[in-house]
Amino acid sequence: MRVTVVTAFPELLEPFTRSGVIGKAVEKGILEIRCINPRNHAEGAYGQIDDYAYGSGGMVLMPEPLARAVDAAREEGPATVVYPGPQGIPLGQHLVESLAVNEHLVIVCGRYEGVDERFVEEYVDLEISIGDYVLTGGELPAMVIVDAVSRMISGVVGQESAVEEDSFFRGMLDTPHYTRPASWRGREVPKVLTGGDHEAIRSWRRGQSSARTAGRRPDIIAGANIGPYLDKGVYVILVPATETIPAADLSDMAEACFAFGCKRLLCVVHGGSERKSLQAHAGERVKAVSTMESAFAWIQKREKAEPFTIVSSGKAGGIHWLELKRRALDSGRPLVFVFDMTEKEKIPAGAETAILGPIRGGKGDVSLSNARDAAVVILDRFFGWR
Ligand code: SAM
Repeated sequence: MRVTVVTAFPELLEPFTRSGVIGKAVEKGILEIRCINPRNHAEGAYGQIDDYAYGSGGMVLMPEPLARAVDAAREEGPATVVYPGPQGIPLGQHLVESLAVNEHLVIVCGRYEGVDERFVEEYVDLEISIGDYVLTGGELPAMVIVDAVSRMISGVVGQESAVEEDSFFRGMLDTPHYTRPASWRGREVPKVLTGGDHEAIRSWRRGQSSARTAGRRPDIIAGANIGPYLDKGVYVILVPATETIPAADLSDMAEACFAFGCKRLLCVVHGGSERKSLQAHAGERVKAVSTMESAFAWIQKREKAEPFTIVSSGKAGGIHWLELKRRALDSGRPLVFVFDMTEKEKIPAGAETAILGPIRGGKGDVSLSNARDAAVVILDRFFGWR
């Protein structure tokens, strides 16, 4: 990836491009960062790039030197032009990932009152804010953008799995971290981390991330993939409205469920021969069972725990999906989604069950009579990466 920073203060970026992870990426040639000083593209002998603002009296960067600097940057090919400004759209992980697909980013740093608006209109593709406060110049935001975007490029951060576990990547917050010494000023590293039980460590980390996200940033749970933070497996139970559901349809639905991280699609089919035929043709991601009770018993035996069950009824009056997502994260139980297309089956007594409210959109409640469509929409809300 190439980044060109248009700045009147290139010396601010020099140490950044030479140090740490970014410095290494530059050294390895994964990342190329250069600066263009608009003063070198100014008219007149004094390299003037700013002038008094009409109407307010402050100073503003003139459009022509910036335009020429961007034209020079684009000489080697097309580029996406970013202007870091406090009025821009807020920088978040989704935007960081979207920027990372660009081969060449040009970042134009403002100063003083900002840049002439006509330059923004003519040249800027994206105006990005790094927060609701005002800095003296665009150089720090430019470094913030380059730093965050670079971490998304393969080879920049040594251990890529670490990036995936970082805050916001899957939409959740990271766990707390500790290093030696195990005891420091009377504070101990949590025992589980020094015990060597890897499953216990993974479970502790999942719990910490969940609790931190729920406690500090409940607002981001809507867009998070909670799958990796659940202690137990996720299952889907489908009660088909007809005994003759085509095996191919079911195996399609199972693939979609599997893609979202579900362990198995259990399909309740009462008729013995239909069940056998379904099991023979639908593939290993589908398990045909005779009753809802046997579906639950199978899951319970496999997970050694009672599940938390979410029943999708499509009817008004259920609980909002976001609240159920929070409860699922909090439950520590296996998670079961039931799509009962017959509405006749009973969930076994004792199971913790919640009714999911309808999917809303368009003109109101969206009724999805096809179980696969309903499953994909709902699973995406719980396990989609936003
Ligand atoms: N008058 C502008 C306003 O209130 O919207 C602020 C200008 S600021 C003093 C100077 C430059 O710093 C801006 O042109 C921009 O490039 C950069 N800057 C300041 N705060 C920023 C932020 N929160 N996000 C991104 N860039 C920022």
